[in-house]
Amino acid sequence: MSNLPIPRPGVLSIDAYVPGKSAAPGATRAFKLSANETPLGPSPRAIVAARDILEESALYPEGSSRNLREAIGAQFNLDPARIIAGAGSDEVLELLALAYIGPQDEGVYSQYGFLEYKIVTLSAGGRPVVAPEKNYSADVDSLLSCVNEKTKLVFLANPNNPTGSYLPEEEVRRLAASLPKQTILVIDAAYAEYVTRTDYSAGINIVDEYTNVVMTRTFSKIYGLAGLRLGWGYGPSAIIETLNRIRPPFNISSIASAAGIAALADAEHIQKAIEHNTRWLPWLTNEISALGLEVLPSVANFIAIRFPSTPGLTAVDADQFLTKKGLILRAIGTYGMPDFLRLTVGGQEANHAVVSALKEFMQKGKNSFKNE
Ligand SMILES: *Cc1c(COP(=O)(O)O)cnc(C)c1O
Repeated sequence: MSNLPIPRPGVLSIDAYVPGKSAAPGATRAFKLSANETPLGPSPRAIVAARDILEESALYPEGSSRNLREAIGAQFNLDPARIIAGAGSDEVLELLALAYIGPQDEGVYSQYGFLEYKIVTLSAGGRPVVAPEKNYSADVDSLLSCVNEKTKLVFLANPNNPTGSYLPEEEVRRLAASLPKQTILVIDAAYAEYVTRTDYSAGINIVDEYTNVVMTRTFSKIYGLAGLRLGWGYGPSAIIETLNRIRPPFNISSIASAAGIAALADAEHIQKAIEHNTRWLPWLTNEISALGLEVLPSVANFIAIRFPSTPGLTAVDADQFLTKKGLILRAIGTYGMPDFLRLTVGGQEANHAVVSALKEFMQKGKNSFKNE
């Protein structure tokens, strides 16, 4: 018998979340394209607001992030009482799991869905259930076939990370309409702002039609505030009130709140980020496809690139090659996609550097294969 304190059953079977690499040792300059951060940085207004409020750091923030919730409410035309702020949307996901999933309960998510769903389900003591995907996209029928009386949460990243695929509003609606009333549908719309498809909805209108649908959003992606940890959820009053019972008081720092409020108000900055992505996402997709690599169609600010299994041309080889050049992509073997690397849309210089490095990589790989 070990004489160390023993955690709850299940905790030691959780693999801790491993973030993407953030450094390229030895490279003279590096571009971090591994965490879907924005190349445009935060709104200058958010930086000013964060600096200004530092003076007030001796004071606790307002406990429920009221000012932030009111600003979000005004921006999206929502009732602030039905909004909950989280230290990243990760915290909202965690609160949902802690509040609704107990031992024997199940959390369902799709095969290549965001890994955090598995982690929060396990940390709540529940059982993660994986619904197979078709063509690297969530499948409503597949998700529904995993649902039973033990299913408390169904997580859907829309668009999904790391595949970049999305479900049209009609399909999300079909999912919501088909779930038992006891099962909560969690629509994680972390990349909503980037999506330009007309058949897409972030989920606000769907939340409003059901008593069991919640949407989560984040300030980490298009708003460029990942370092401040800020996200939010919108849902039916009964669910938001439940989450507030277990939410740590003062979970949002006054700095994050102030920056978030200022970022929301900077429509110009958001517009710039959307335009940047709308220009470079298809450019990267086309250029990289033209090298003979498969790129999964994406509506977000990243793409998943599939590498051949040919020795010298694999995703592992590509990862090493690119890292040496200071181009840091995300290996997604932990998502069950070992043949892929995920690339975040970067600034112009980084995007060009990735394409020329991949061109060189494919050439070198093909030549070395020929010579064998
Ligand atoms: C990045 C990301 C989030 C955001 O997480 P935060 O905790 O808000 O930083 C949520 N869901 C998905 C699918 C993501 O890729």
